[in-house]
Amino acid sequence: MILRNVLNTVSKVIPIKILSSITSQKIILPFYHTISDKSLPHIKNLYEVRGTKTFIQDLEFLCKHFKPIDLDTLYDIISKNVKVNKPVFHITFDDGLKELYSNVAPILKEKGIPATVFLNTDFIDNKGLFFRYKISLIIDNVLRSKTIDQKVYEMLEIPKPSVESLKTKLLELQITDEVLIDEIAKSIHLDFKEYLKYNEPYLNRKEIKELSKCGWKFGSHSKNHPFFKNLTLEEQKKQLTESFNFLSKELNINDRYFSFPFSDEGVEAVFFRWLYQNDCKLSFGISGMKKDAFINHLHRIPFDGINNQANEIIKSEYLYYMIKFFFGKNRIQR
Ligand SMILES: [Zn+2]
Repeated sequence: MILRNVLNTVSKVIPIKILSSITSQKIILPFYHTISDKSLPHIKNLYEVRGTKTFIQDLEFLCKHFKPIDLDTLYDIISKNVKVNKPVFHITFDDGLKELYSNVAPILKEKGIPATVFLNTDFIDNKGLFFRYKISLIIDNVLRSKTIDQKVYEMLEIPKPSVESLKTKLLELQITDEVLIDEIAKSIHLDFKEYLKYNEPYLNRKEIKELSKCGWKFGSHSKNHPFFKNLTLEEQKKQLTESFNFLSKELNINDRYFSFPFSDEGVEAVFFRWLYQNDCKLSFGISGMKKDAFINHLHRIPFDGINNQANEIIKSEYLYYMIKFFFGKNRIQR
């Protein structure tokens, strides 16, 4: 964090043009989940979402220094090894959330900026809810209630009950704990199906089709958002095969693009090789400005959960990249 702050201060005086030229990093891939001015109970206990005003400022900054490109152009640049003269950017969103249709699309349309969304196919049409969003809802519910049922502490095996310990324990739960997550919700009378029905946090098929007509691209973000490093190779392949099949059959989305749920950390080379052999054009991680041993795997810059302006985020990524370069750490090996 201290290093980031120092970098932010130093980078303010160096123009983007010089940074992109020194590093030869001319493709910027900002990554968000959603944009909202309202507090979203299923997200608010996990990370901070950027509001529309900040998002518009991000776009103004990006458009001033980089040319917006669509996903097909990005693929052409990578697959044909095209030299990029003027720096470019492509915006992507993970998880397929509703506000992309209601808040983001009108802003991007007005500015003529293309975007890509990575969908969890089990959650399209609000048929299911990501286990981390369930956890945020439980925390939201617990924080709003005056008394916490002792049973919840017992279920989580917390010896010294406190709201903080409860929150910490809940945030540690994994997808393999989903039965327990559902049981806790039940014990506090929190009904996820009702939440999905009345709040519709995800995009539905109609909205996805409409956005596709406007030039938006869609890819897979797996079926139900597991951490890939915790899956067997067969389970990893199943997540991809079934989500790609769904996109193709149900939504006529045949170009295969994939963004790793959570992170690509710890995923072995054999899976990456299988991915590209199975017609996946590009895959995406969230490691910031970094190169990868697999040229079709691109790293994006997270914009959620950071209070800094786009200018600071991008410039500190450039400086961080340069520092890593000296230590030979700006390429991820697998
Ligand atoms: Zn995600």
